[in-house]
Amino acid sequence: MSAANNAYYATHDPFSDFTTAPEIAQVFGEILGAWSAVIWQLMGAPVPVALVEAGPGRGTLMQDALRLARRVAPDFASAIDVHFIETSARLRAEQSRRVPDAVWHEGLDSLPRGPSILLANEFLDALPIRQFVRRQAGWVERFVRDGRFVEVPSGGPERDAAVGSVVEVSEVAGAWIAAVARRIALDGGAALILDYGTTQGRCGDSFQALHAGKPANPLADPGSADLTAHVDFAAMAKAVRAQGAMVWGPIPQGIWLGRLGLWERTAALNAANPQQSHALQLAAMRLASPSRMGELFKAVCVTQPGFPAPPGFEV
Ligand code: SAH
Repeated sequence: MSAANNAYYATHDPFSDFTTAPEIAQVFGEILGAWSAVIWQLMGAPVPVALVEAGPGRGTLMQDALRLARRVAPDFASAIDVHFIETSARLRAEQSRRVPDAVWHEGLDSLPRGPSILLANEFLDALPIRQFVRRQAGWVERFVRDGRFVEVPSGGPERDAAVGSVVEVSEVAGAWIAAVARRIALDGGAALILDYGTTQGRCGDSFQALHAGKPANPLADPGSADLTAHVDFAAMAKAVRAQGAMVWGPIPQGIWLGRLGLWERTAALNAANPQQSHALQLAAMRLASPSRMGELFKAVCVTQPGFPAPPGFEV
């Protein structure tokens, strides 16, 4: 999965195969920009502050967030150093057209120490998983070895399950979120993760590929499609707490965006662009309605210990 995705992101325009919230509506990046400004105030307005985005895609989210910050929170805007975590050279070039002053990184390790706000939309779902299947004789792990699909007897996940059950575990995602939580616990700040997944512990085969907007066989033609799996939010919360950071949510994306003014902002944009208002309304509904992205997608926040409830995560 890891090798196939590296090849895919290095050679393809992923946005010809799928679209994401910031590409659907500018209000998404604007809300994240406003949210970050409030978080910065709650952090005590440190200068400078790193605004980090993992897997920034086309750079649209950050462009929209920065434009809004400059307008409504100029002190925050001028305190920001933008850092992008991106492995694809092709996407880095695209991002630099929209956010020319960013500093690019391969991973978390080279980020500067100090207070930070990290954003990650549809990033964790692209990290590789391991997949276990409960057979009659016990757990097997299935994966690709030397170009072949194999099933190998394995210790399997910690729990037992009915024969035929599939359980997915992402050690890479677990280690990534633990490293984020450790930084935040030590250096202060918050991380906002938006992605699709389950809250009940992961059970079932969620490994999938999208090609030209349609589901494709994830094992056919490796490197030609984006491979993803649902994010295990329960495992994520455990990994965060183990590092001494706090975790908030998950909250369904539709509810979270609604609390942060999705409909008010959409109405304001509609009033300014009456000829586009139908399209803007449809875009907002796509992000928030439970039958579209509103429920499967969830928002989770990681903060330094002792932090007050971040905007949208109030109980
Ligand atoms: N956040 C963007 C893009 C999501 S697609 C949006 O919402 O539109 C996933 C992004 O993560 C792409 O930019 C991809 O190149 C990047 N990516 C995937 N795996 C990565 C990895 N292991 N390290 C860094 N970036 C990665």
